[in-house]
Amino acid sequence: MENKKEKIILTGDRPTGRLHVGHYVGSLKRRVELQNSGKFDEIYIMIADAQALTDNADNPEKVRQNIIEVALDYLSCGLDPAKSTLFIQSQIPELTELSFYYMNLVTVSRLQRNPTVKSEIQMRNFEASIPVGFFTYPISQASDITAFKATTVPVGEDQLPMLEQTKEIVRKFNATYADVLIEPEILLPDNKACLRLPGTDGKAKMSKSLGNCIYLADSEEDVKKKIMSMFTDPNHLRVEDPGKVEGNPVFIYLDAFSKQEHFEEYLPEYANLDELKAHYTRGGLGDVKVKKFLNAVMQEELSPIRAKRKEFEKDIPEIYNILKQGSEKAREKAAATLDDVKSAMKINYFEDKELIKTQSEKYRYEE
Ligand code: ATP
Ligand code: MG
Repeated sequence: MENKKEKIILTGDRPTGRLHVGHYVGSLKRRVELQNSGKFDEIYIMIADAQALTDNADNPEKVRQNIIEVALDYLSCGLDPAKSTLFIQSQIPELTELSFYYMNLVTVSRLQRNPTVKSEIQMRNFEASIPVGFFTYPISQASDITAFKATTVPVGEDQLPMLEQTKEIVRKFNATYADVLIEPEILLPDNKACLRLPGTDGKAKMSKSLGNCIYLADSEEDVKKKIMSMFTDPNHLRVEDPGKVEGNPVFIYLDAFSKQEHFEEYLPEYANLDELKAHYTRGGLGDVKVKKFLNAVMQEELSPIRAKRKEFEKDIPEIYNILKQGSEKAREKAAATLDDVKSAMKINYFEDKELIKTQSEKYRYEE
């Protein structure tokens, strides 16, 4: 086992709401592809409830309700419990223990410099009252990743600073104690539009907390309604006006979702997305037409997911069972890593025969 470097995935989501198409293009779709590629030795997918509580401490019911929603979204997108271990973060106490030791390797000023934490603090109006748990969540993410000895972390661009923080902790730990932890690599989407999908309101990021999402579980009508009322170029008032495609969420979604075949099927008068963009930029192409096309494209992607969800919704106890079994399996792995960590840190007193021997020699007096 030691000779061959194993390939291990760890990633997850916060159960603060149902999953949206930003999650889908940013991470979820990729995970399913990686899962089915057969190239990975172990895959861990975590529902990060403990992390969700760091900024929802007063609303545990929200977190509790959304665990099943996230699990249903996972399964309906094709994550398969026979291939991927689906688990709940809080059920693995070893993760909190790791965090406590990693905290000694990170400075307050380093955490304050984390750009994602900075912008999330701003978004939540936490400036004057940041919960310590929230402030330290990059450390907890380092525990999640390293506990499973993950080599590969498929996530959206907002997670880059978290991966940097994790790598620093790994290096510091290995240099200070012993070479125990694995440095993970981030795996970002290849498609630029998927790095950080904007909201339907045109805000920089589609996010559960901003209420600008198209959810995977939204009905066909809701998706259509949301698309038809999407923010576009505010200066594109009349059909004849030239429009802007840069920063226009409708075109960014088309970048993320549309394929060549969609044009043949739904919009044959254009050969491809470049032609459609060129027409919009020139003027003479209305938002409604583009939005109708986007709707057709997105419904095609979302309707099989929606249908699969309906099937899984029929047996909720079984979903909890999947999560329980996954959590048990995940815990074994995390416990093995914690053992290695504690040995490296020399806090394995009772297993250390040498320690007991030398300490007793110290106190062996001549009679
Ligand atoms: P919250 O607002 O509660 O933080 P969120 O919508 O940001 O929720 P997370 O659970 O924090 O969702 O993120 C889960 C994963 O989805 C991460 O890998 C993140 O990078 C990715 N992700 C989230 N939003 C987007 C987005 N708009 N575009 C691309 N990837 C995204
Ligand atoms: Mg987030």
